[in-house]
Amino acid sequence: MDHDHEHRDGKPGHSEPGGIQARVRALETILTEKGLVDPRALDRIVDAFETKIGPRNGARIVARAWSDPEFEVRLLADATEAANSMGFSSPVGAHLIAVENTPETHNLVVCTLCSCYPWEVLGLPPVWYKSAPYRSRAVMEPRAVLAEFGVALPPDTQIRVWDSTAETRFLVVPMRPPGTQGWSEERLADLVTRDSMIGTGLAKSP
Ligand code: FE
Repeated sequence: MDHDHEHRDGKPGHSEPGGIQARVRALETILTEKGLVDPRALDRIVDAFETKIGPRNGARIVARAWSDPEFEVRLLADATEAANSMGFSSPVGAHLIAVENTPETHNLVVCTLCSCYPWEVLGLPPVWYKSAPYRSRAVMEPRAVLAEFGVALPPDTQIRVWDSTAETRFLVVPMRPPGTQGWSEERLADLVTRDSMIGTGLAKSP
């Protein structure tokens, strides 16, 4: 399912988009004709990832980690368990690892091989995440990539790049913005952008 919805927004992003779209359509047709899948069920799954899940789940996890030191410890120890304790409709299946940004270290997530992404907490991956330039350049020149996303880090901040796989997904916990003392989790979650949880952005300032 990782690759079927790559071009719904019509943007290019893969070396042979037509080929993949055509193969996906052919596969869906065959499976439907053989009665193995219900197209309405497929639509419901896609709709769930597009409109119901989205990066809001990840933002709620980050906001809780910012507000609750015990949850933060739990999240860093076992993010799959911590995420699933929040009772989201789509439990995290793959092994989820949370990596925390600090003034010393900034974390950036990529899948160099394809497009592995923590769907359950971030929803659908952005098109650029699956593009060949991002996948190679995030590893070779992460600082330049971050600059293009508008993220300028102090020169002595180290950048750690994490390569996702089918089994292991990463969630970046961005730094909590200053000036948010006493904020509710709900309000804090509004500052947590999707890109800040991939590492190509920072949390918004209030
Ligand atoms: Fe992948």
